[in-house]
This record gives sequence, structure tokens and C-alpha cells, in this order.
Amino acid sequence: MNRQSKILRFFMEMKPCDVCCLDEVQYMHFGAYVCGACSAFFRRSIAEYKSYKCGKENKCNVTKELRNSCRACRLKRCFDNYETLAVLVD
Ligand SMILES: [Zn+2]
Ligand SMILES: [Zn+2]
Repeated sequence: MNRQSKILRFFMEMKPCDVCCLDEVQYMHFGAYVCGACSAFFRRSIAEYKSYKCGKENKCNVTKELRNSCRACRLKRCFDNYETLAVLVD
């Protein structure tokens, strides 16, 4: 397989979002498979992430229904998947 077809295959691959587990994503954002909504959420949240609090000890399941209800857990999953960025923000 030549280099170009490898790259093409890489971009064609669809995986569920690493954060909300539901939306299929075609591209990698920040080195992880993350849907556009979670990617935008992460960028918006970096500045104020310390003010997010979870009522369930950061153990919520982040699903499509929950992803707008617990910002703390959703952001935690973002950090789990964005190791490089998490280091930068700390
Ligand atoms: Zn997502
Ligand atoms: Zn939570």
C-alpha cells in the first residue's frame, strides 16, 4: 500500500467520539477522536474548567443526554483523551 492510500484510509475511518461515545467522527481533533460538539466544548471550557463541579464525585456517564448536564464529567473525559493539552493547561 502506498503512502497516499494509507492517509486516505485513515481519514475515511469512522469512530465514535472518545468523549460522548455517540457521535461518529471522521477526523481527529487534538490527537483524539472527538466530535465537533465536544471539541468546541473543550476549547470553550479550558479557561473556566476549575469552576466546574460534579454532584456525583466525577462519576457520571457522559452520554449524549448527559453531555450537556454535567460539564465537570464531560470535561474530565476530554482531559482523559487530550493528554497533551491537559499538561499544557495545568
Ligand atoms: Zn462527542
Ligand atoms: Zn458528573
